[in-house]
Amino acid sequence: TTAIVVFTRDLRVHDNPVLAAAAGADHVVPLFVHDEKLAATGFATGPRSRFLAECLADLDAQLRERGAALVRREGDLVAEVARLAHEVDATAVHIAADASAFAVRRQQRLAEALTAQRYELTVHDAVHTVLAAGAITPQGNDHFAVFTPYHRRWADAARRSIATAPHRMRLPPGVSAPESGTAGTSSGVPGGETEARRRAHRWLSDDADRYHDRHDDLAAERGTSRLSPYLHFGCLSALELAAEAGARHTEGADAFVRQLAWRDFHFQVLAARPNSSHEDYRSRADAWRDDPDALQSWQEGQTGIPIVDAGMRQLAAEGWMHNRARLITASFLTKTLYLDWRADAAHFQQHLLDGDIANNQMNWQWVAGTGTDTRPNRVLNPLRQAERYDPTGDYVRRWVPELADLDNPREAHQPWRLGPTALREIGYATPIVDLEAARERFQQHRQVSR
Ligand code: FAD
Repeated sequence: TTAIVVFTRDLRVHDNPVLAAAAGADHVVPLFVHDEKLAATGFATGPRSRFLAECLADLDAQLRERGAALVRREGDLVAEVARLAHEVDATAVHIAADASAFAVRRQQRLAEALTAQRYELTVHDAVHTVLAAGAITPQGNDHFAVFTPYHRRWADAARRSIATAPHRMRLPPGVSAPESGTAGTSSGVPGGETEARRRAHRWLSDDADRYHDRHDDLAAERGTSRLSPYLHFGCLSALELAAEAGARHTEGADAFVRQLAWRDFHFQVLAARPNSSHEDYRSRADAWRDDPDALQSWQEGQTGIPIVDAGMRQLAAEGWMHNRARLITASFLTKTLYLDWRADAAHFQQHLLDGDIANNQMNWQWVAGTGTDTRPNRVLNPLRQAERYDPTGDYVRRWVPELADLDNPREAHQPWRLGPTALREIGYATPIVDLEAARERFQQHRQVSR
């Protein structure tokens, strides 16, 4: 018997049901297809391609320890898997279920192509998430549209057991994998399961218990886990992480597990409404504004509002942004500037290492008021947010060097108070918008849309 294990964004050997399903087969082909269609969607930006390459190198090394290796193909995933199934006369083909419209279509095409050749595809649930997308549903609906009741059910729901990878695997005769090698010299966050497990372990033992106190502190060094890129690429199992954190029984670790429930929540919304990646989940009557100059200032971190610019510059520099900064920058764009969430979400998606259709698009919709927020018309005041979540001004001084010498947090957050001459001298932008006028504009727009 020969099993093909199609890796997508489940790039791990621990607790991977797709790989575990191959246990018992005489031969196993662990396969990764560099999907040309996905690359064409703009997914493969420089830092993310580098991170992915490191994940694949690490996966390959781990598979070699078990006697196999990662087989790679390039092209259309469906055509490549179908060709390989024919070459090795596969008795089973395994893949993880995913939620985006792209992944769902691809999975359907793959099932059809394999069935036509009389091969069978097994699609595994709950690989990317703790619970499978449809595992819990409210009465009369196919998904939860509100987080709190979802979370209540999520916390008590039965979970699948942890999956064990085959200890020994053999490639079929005639199938070869490329030579192993490192992914090149790495700058930035290193990809791969080995690194992910090391970081998760350290996070849980040293920091997670204080999460409830520190997760909203923009300047805290280790206030949040920064595990999101590893979760996105599946270097870590969300199920295993939730179980290990939950076993600590501390307020901090429980608050951290709740965030993993948010991740599952967005996934089940997208799985039920795949078009929410580009269409309003809840449609609105009025039109967004069109203002390319403002959009550009926001993208470049030159809006003149330090807390917004700090977030955008952190994104450009690190391929990651603190959650609080994501909320502030996204609210500024959609509610203060009143620009369409789609263009803005695409910018995030392009730069984030953890850029994830479910989490990015559904969080954007949440902030824009077109998603699952039960208070869709709230507007975050960036100045109040700055005062509260960056009380020392350390975060803005770190990411906006023009403000580095402004020790007084009030000046660092509102440098226009120094007057136009001083602002020019330090070389920082004047605000592109009057916050109070913008808030009124928003209220008027939303009255129309109700
Ligand atoms: P921690 O605070 O340590 O949380 C642990 C994990 O829980 C995270 O790694 C993440 O997997 C999950 N999580 C935390 N908050 C959320 C949330 N609000 N929604 C869903 N999952 C969550 N997260 C992404 O993974 N990819 C995205 O593309 C993404 N885009 C976002 C866009 C906007 C506009 C907003 C407001 C949030 C977005 N998030 C996204 C959610 C959140 O900001 C990040 O998951 C978080 O900042 C990652 O940092 P961390 O790993 O240190 O998180």
